[in-house]
Amino acid sequence: MIGVAVLGSTGSVGENTLDVLARHPQRFRLVAIAANTNATKLARQILTWKPAYAALADERALPELRELLAGSATRTRLLAGPGALEELAVLPEAQCVMAAIVGAAGLRSTLAAAHAGKRLLLANKESLVMAGPLLLAAVNASGATLLPIDSEHSAIFQCLPFGWRAGTAPPGLKRVLLTASGGPFRDTPVEALAAVTPEAACAHPNWVMGRKISVDSATLMNKGLELIEACLLFGVTPTQVEIVVHPQSIVHSMVEYLDGSVLAQLGSPDMRTPIAHALAWPDRIASGVEFLDLVRTARLDFRAPDPDKFRCLALAQAAARAGGLAPAVLNAANEVAVQAFLDRQLNFLEIATVIEAVVARSGGGGVGSLEDVLAADAESRQRARERIFGSRPFSHPSGAPQQVRQ
Ligand code: NDP
Repeated sequence: MIGVAVLGSTGSVGENTLDVLARHPQRFRLVAIAANTNATKLARQILTWKPAYAALADERALPELRELLAGSATRTRLLAGPGALEELAVLPEAQCVMAAIVGAAGLRSTLAAAHAGKRLLLANKESLVMAGPLLLAAVNASGATLLPIDSEHSAIFQCLPFGWRAGTAPPGLKRVLLTASGGPFRDTPVEALAAVTPEAACAHPNWVMGRKISVDSATLMNKGLELIEACLLFGVTPTQVEIVVHPQSIVHSMVEYLDGSVLAQLGSPDMRTPIAHALAWPDRIASGVEFLDLVRTARLDFRAPDPDKFRCLALAQAAARAGGLAPAVLNAANEVAVQAFLDRQLNFLEIATVIEAVVARSGGGGVGSLEDVLAADAESRQRARERIFGSRPFSHPSGAPQQVRQ
């Protein structure tokens, strides 16, 4: 029995993880679950799974959770506050930690699991983007096993020779081809993008995901973050990563070798495949995913992305080339801008404008310590907020998108 902690259990990746775990009760035991504020869903998960521990990062939601569980005779130990996630990440009963919190909020618990030598299932790409060198050093020092959950990186991992270690390039690798669906606005003219709504941005054509990553997919920032993630994980340079728009999301990514071979991993677009792969690796287990019918799929198309239309991709490529704290700055500005877009404080095209302005003001520097990363993150968030809101209040009663300050 492998003990599993799922951090971010109420989210899209978290729920998919529980779905896979439910198919293999003889193999896995859910030890701990954690969320931010969603007491209702967490209470339901506690009653279904009876984990030893459950945590809410936002302690203001704890009274509601206690109320929901009152009279249930649950023996689950409840924790709350930001430190609670780190506590769950290092539990001796959990050999495997799914890092599925969204955004920079997942950084400390992901690092804690890496330091504790866990099998670390990394969905929280933002922690690698922000603090890649620190995370990889922690994995190497503790002997942790880092397994990617992003479908693209899982695909690349599956195309690498056995024995590969995170942070290194396998011999003979020429480059990686990172596929992108192109998101919901793949074929939308750039003139129409300023008026698109958060609802339209979150309606991804192929994947059902949380709101933040859905917007990132629509701007192609998600592909930019994945490019940074690929460089760190697979020890390649940004020029060794080619981004290919593949609207069907069947080929999840490819690896090209020096002898001219290109290996690809294919499958239905369903996160349960990479989750099951990482949970059971090096074995293979059933995931519940619909098997691929290539005759029905019929076509696999590939084309280059449009960098003029999707400026976030070019900004991420520049941050990948700059290295150091540049990806952390990019990530922080993006998180603030995406939230402002979701709150209808910013229009879709202004997401890139804000990030560009914050990146331009950043002083650079290297990732020497966690404090460096957290300082760059805090400063960039502040600059992004100033850029978006200036001195006006943070929410606009009309809900209408506002012009960003130039
Ligand atoms: P969701 O928005 O669906 O879920 C996010 C989870 O994180 C929820 O459990 C949420 O809790 C929790 N959370 C949010 N804020 C905090 C916080 N401040 N402190 C602690 N917990 C917090 O996100 P996704 O599942 O879509 O994505 C999770 C991660 O996986 C992201 O990094 C994303 O980029 C990555 N990923 C996602 C994929 C997908 O298919 N969804 C694919 C590949 C990667 P609560 O419910 O209480 O708010």
